[in-house]
Amino acid sequence: MIKWNKSDIETMEKAIEKWGVEKQLIKLIEEAGEVIQEVAKTLHTADFVDEMIFFSPFSKEINLTEELADLYITLEQVCMIEFYDNGKVKKIGENINKVKVEKIQKLQNKLNEEVENVNN
Ligand SMILES: [Mg+2]
Repeated sequence: MIKWNKSDIETMEKAIEKWGVEKQLIKLIEEAGEVIQEVAKTLHTADFVDEMIFFSPFSKEINLTEELADLYITLEQVCMIEFYDNGKVKKIGENINKVKVEKIQKLQNKLNEEVENVNN
């Protein structure tokens, strides 16, 4: 969903340097909490028809996109954080694509199982 250019990456690296690892983790908690709040507001105020969300005029204060963007940025920054593993410097997110492939495969398997259960 989100594409990062070189300048984005440099800015996020500078943010980690300036505010430190602990602050990035606290920020992750805060941003995840804000997304949870926006999802809860959406569930309370929106209508759901044909797999689409319809926001009511009274739910203008909901800004799921903005909070999701904050969370994406913070997640990316947390993935850049380095740690030591048996004397080697690694990044938290360095294996995230490999793990993602495994998780998507699990999801695919689950979907296939459900289709098989419906057909039997
Ligand atoms: Mg936010």
